[in-house]
Amino acid sequence: MKISHNSSLKELNTFKVDCITKTHIVVENNNDFKDKEFLKYTNDTNPLFLGGGSNVLFTKNLTQPVVQIKTKGKEVKKENDKFMIIKIEAGENWDDFVKWSIEHNLIGLQNLAYIPGTVGATPIQNVGAYGVETKDFLVEVSVINIKDGTEITLTNKECKFGYRDSIFKHELKDSYIVKNITLNLEKYNGHIDDKYLQYAGIKEMADNQNLSLNSLYKIIADIRKSKLPSIEKYGTCGSTFKNPQLPIDEYERLKEQFPDLPMYSTEIENIVKIPAAYILEKLGWKNKRVGDVGTWIYHPLIVTNYGNATGAEILSFIKDMQTDFKSKTNLDLETEINIV
Ligand SMILES: Cc1cc2nc3c(=O)[nH]c(=O)nc-3n(C[C@H](O)[C@H](O)[C@H](O)COP(=O)(O)OP(=O)(O)OC[C@H]3O[C@@H](n4cnc5c(N)ncnc54)[C@H](O)[C@@H]3O)c2cc1C
Repeated sequence: MKISHNSSLKELNTFKVDCITKTHIVVENNNDFKDKEFLKYTNDTNPLFLGGGSNVLFTKNLTQPVVQIKTKGKEVKKENDKFMIIKIEAGENWDDFVKWSIEHNLIGLQNLAYIPGTVGATPIQNVGAYGVETKDFLVEVSVINIKDGTEITLTNKECKFGYRDSIFKHELKDSYIVKNITLNLEKYNGHIDDKYLQYAGIKEMADNQNLSLNSLYKIIADIRKSKLPSIEKYGTCGSTFKNPQLPIDEYERLKEQFPDLPMYSTEIENIVKIPAAYILEKLGWKNKRVGDVGTWIYHPLIVTNYGNATGAEILSFIKDMQTDFKSKTNLDLETEINIV
């Protein structure tokens, strides 16, 4: 465990905003969570847990401790010719693990290619992309109560996963740290199910080549690179907002205003999901700039730090978008990112 004081988090968040934390604790070993020194810092405050900082916006300096999780390791729990059950420590890099799974001939995670961040953060918002979500593979999550160092294991059902949502954003927020996750991944037998090819652009690119897990990973990574800002160059957390979910009759009402508004069915009866980007673009929010803050050139959902914007400036821009969206649609535009 490494503890430092008055440290800058600028290099530790992909929005690239400066933020000073009073106490920065880096955990590289799971035993640290039970260490008296660690508990001294965490048991009477609400620490902030940090993985890769790719889904968090710092808007002020922090007085609570920041616990950065860098624990590493993987353990195969069970394997046969159909599947592998594997436990992965929270601090592993997510995309490295996705590549590892492909090298080990496991299918599923290739659709979650090229998403920044750590393994431990994936259950927090049930990370999803291209028709696949963390919950589709997750067996269980081991968490540690940071008030007393005790550990419990939650099953997939107990995690209460939803669209970009889980128990970790509600009942267990701030008090339980994800220690590791266990996934059940299917062995690739040469066949790629159509469910992995449903999203715009994938089929078209796939038709032109002999498809393999590797080439599907590359197709998805290439689509993402063409649509999203590079985190090496720009400050961003990807999609800033969730797509609204609403009753079908409300969708019909919105269609009078936005006749070509698409919709997608959800797992909930009579509830549909609409692309916030479609409406934001109609409202003029694509490639809009105020100083160093703006939306991405090709995508209004992606708020971007084009230079030296502060967290407070980014937050103010986000609030303007939400107010405009609400006044024009009467719908709330909820943030997907975690604002601190
Ligand atoms: C360019 C770009 C593209 C993206 N695309 C997608 C996408 O397609 N789909 C998607 O779902 N997300 C996407 N994201 C968002 C982000 O990458 C994911 O949410 C990722 O899982 C965050 O991981 P992290 O380690 O960086 O988490 P952080 O940003 O460090 O933390 C995110 C939240 O999780 C909590 N947390 C982190 N680790 C732990 C832990 N071990 N225990 C308890 N709480 C923890 C933090 O307190 C915080 O509330 C994208 C981000 C970027 C920058």
